[in-house]
Amino acid sequence: MSVTTAAYESDELPDETVDAVVIGGGAAGLNGALMLARSRRSVVVIDSGTPRNAPAAGVHGLIGLDGTPPSDLMETGRTEVRSYGGLIVTGEVSAATPAEPSPDGDLRFTVTLTDGRTLRARRVLVATGLRDVLPDIPGLAQHWGHSVVHCPYCHGWEVRDEPIGLLAVGPASVHHALLFRQLTDDLVYFTRGTDLDDIRARFAARDIRIIDTPVDRVVTAEDGALTGVLLTDGRTIPRNVLAVATEMYSRTAGLEDLQLPMEDLPNGMGRHIASGMAGTTAVPGVWVAGNATDLSAQVGASAAAGALAGAHLNAVLATADTDAALAAARRGVTA
Ligand SMILES: Cc1cc2nc3c(=O)[nH]c(=O)nc-3n(C[C@H](O)[C@H](O)[C@H](O)COP(=O)(O)OP(=O)(O)OC[C@H]3O[C@@H](n4cnc5c(N)ncnc54)[C@H](O)[C@@H]3O)c2cc1C
Repeated sequence: MSVTTAAYESDELPDETVDAVVIGGGAAGLNGALMLARSRRSVVVIDSGTPRNAPAAGVHGLIGLDGTPPSDLMETGRTEVRSYGGLIVTGEVSAATPAEPSPDGDLRFTVTLTDGRTLRARRVLVATGLRDVLPDIPGLAQHWGHSVVHCPYCHGWEVRDEPIGLLAVGPASVHHALLFRQLTDDLVYFTRGTDLDDIRARFAARDIRIIDTPVDRVVTAEDGALTGVLLTDGRTIPRNVLAVATEMYSRTAGLEDLQLPMEDLPNGMGRHIASGMAGTTAVPGVWVAGNATDLSAQVGASAAAGALAGAHLNAVLATADTDAALAAARRGVTA
């Protein structure tokens, strides 16, 4: 059963089974919902309001919208989804469970929110994003998304020509350093116990200074600005910006009952929900899009993945609707 356009005029969860529930209302979830709502699917987005890029001042690297504050982009997206009849609910999903199929054999899911509300849906799009885990260095976390950055494409231009320090976390940090070297002539690489043997000459050729002395903590001035890195030998290396790769983990709290297959990244870099074509998963009726499955996706790629998953979900429902209609017609003939 489909609920038609502009069906939702309040934030109340509908009693009827909806075509799709989208868990997570960031770029991926909202674009998935937009495709579904524009296809006249009844769609409910449940979003806990903690998108990954919340600390950032602007979304960069996104043509036509470069520099837009993340909250403005999300508000525009919500308005667009609502304008086609989609419902956006603020809340956190604490359980998503496969339920008894409908009498005609179609899939059903029950979604429960932390406040106890429940919703039934025919299909699920998971778009919960990811959790960044910083290395455990005192003083680092308070600067995350401002003076502590991970992504040269998100904030690189904004920190160009600054004295930048790269805090190594593993083998991938070598390439990370070369990307930040593209943005500044003043780059210091803090090895933090990671192996660099055959890379030293390459770094020397690019004027990247190497510091092997362990890092004690990040130094913050009284006015709150990041000013440097204190080493265990007592020296402070002045820096205004630190670049560091995070470990990235798909946000799966509350989704355990779906039993979505997970995959590890190499070198302990993180873990994500495994997906196939158009965000399909090994669990029938469940799609995944954005950072929850593609840990490297930026806003544009996450939105695109959400749109593709939403379109594919709609296509699968169109087939299911037709199968059900045909079965009903045959029952009518033989009755
Ligand atoms: C500091 C920083 C700056 C960045 N800057 C840029 C940039 O300039 N340009 C760019 O392209 N990319 C940038 N990114 C990357 C960008 O954040 C991601 O590409 C984007 O957020 C991924 O979108 P998403 O929809 O997959 O996840 P998110 O945007 O993280 O959205 C996921 C949503 O799901 C919700 N959620 C999670 N679990 C539940 C649950 N159980 N129940 C209900 N809701 C739930 C969350 O509250 C959240 O709102 C940046 C990242 C960081 C960390």
